[in-house]
Amino acid sequence: MEIKKEIALKKIPTRASEKYRNFPMVPRVVFGNGSFDQLGEILLSKRKHSEAPVIFLVDDVFEGTELVSRIPQIFCDQIIFVSAEEEPKTQQVDALVDLIKKEYQELPSGVVGIGGGTLLDLAKAVAILLTNNGSAQDYQGWDLVRKKAVYHVGVPTISGTGAEVSRTTVLLGPEKKLGINSDYTTFDQVILDPELTQGVAKEQWFYTGMDCYIHCIESLNGTYLNAFSQSYGEKALDLCKEVFLTDLSDADSRDKLMMASWHGGMSIAYSQVGVAHALSYGLGYRLGVKHGIGNCLVFQHLEEFYPEGVALFHKMKERHKINLPKGICKELSEEDLNVMVSVAMGMEPLWENALGENWKSVITPEKIKSIYKKI
Ligand code: NAD
Ligand code: ZN
Repeated sequence: MEIKKEIALKKIPTRASEKYRNFPMVPRVVFGNGSFDQLGEILLSKRKHSEAPVIFLVDDVFEGTELVSRIPQIFCDQIIFVSAEEEPKTQQVDALVDLIKKEYQELPSGVVGIGGGTLLDLAKAVAILLTNNGSAQDYQGWDLVRKKAVYHVGVPTISGTGAEVSRTTVLLGPEKKLGINSDYTTFDQVILDPELTQGVAKEQWFYTGMDCYIHCIESLNGTYLNAFSQSYGEKALDLCKEVFLTDLSDADSRDKLMMASWHGGMSIAYSQVGVAHALSYGLGYRLGVKHGIGNCLVFQHLEEFYPEGVALFHKMKERHKINLPKGICKELSEEDLNVMVSVAMGMEPLWENALGENWKSVITPEKIKSIYKKI
């Protein structure tokens, strides 16, 4: 067991010179109801001058709401509303960067993402591409970013993905769905204001919350597990159990899910996700199924890999009367299924974390196809 842990820790580094990964953390974070109102003061010290704007990328679900009137927009700042209906794309990042560059002579003082994982990832990617030439797709991978990004702030309005704390921004490109994983991706500042998550629809609350729960199960049951990941993963799992299986006040529940998301993200930072995420990537790539619901659709059928985790998932699902859609993969051709299998099997570190070095002897294309066919 000890040896295994040591192997896992060494596997994670991305640079050949590193024995153990030296990963960045968010250097500044505010937590508390109403803390969003501190954003203006926080930005003030980062403003270069009146011609260097702050760009606010805001989920368009907030258009016309009271939250927009609280955005500390001054000088030539701009609010850009973006739909979170679809997951972020590399072309979308490029278009936003072009738009900003055309409109302003000066590099922005900052980029602020306000929304769920979709908007947080877009803000991270735009901040990177404002200082790094080329297209977002050139940076999909590990440590390809060379220059520090523009100062960027994340304000989550729904809890679960851990995107507020991670060093990646997951983008759908023309060739692949892959993150820009780099030391420059991580936010410079995060504002955790649980009140902002008040308007989330119940189903979406569950799907994104389950993303966090699944991060915990995959991290805690993986071969990459180590004391660092375990400490965060166990805390996040306890918080998820409280939120989804006990009667908390709404305010308590929002606070706890926001912290679960943070801890879940920290847990996978030093380990990896597993089978559900690998299969969910395949679903997302071919069918555009979003991350949270995609994970749920897959995870319900993974009792063979995560027996206790899946049993608890069903309990949570029943408690909150969530009906997952059925028959998603029913109409798919053999060709479609093959594409999904190949995307899923391409996620090698996820499989290795889940099943160990000999994962290829356990998981076969047929096996994956049989799981997809159940969805
Ligand atoms: P999301 O950002 O896609 O939003 C889901 C829905 O909730 C949208 O319709 C959005 O408009 C709505 N919404 C958000 N906040 C709301 C609020 N306060 N009130 C009402 N509606 C609200 O959801 P998500 O699940 O947080 O993010 C999914 C994305 O995160 C995917 O693109 C996935 O790839 C990415 N992700 C990134 C990481 C990372 O580490 N970078 C990790 C996991 C997932
Ligand atoms: Zn996830």
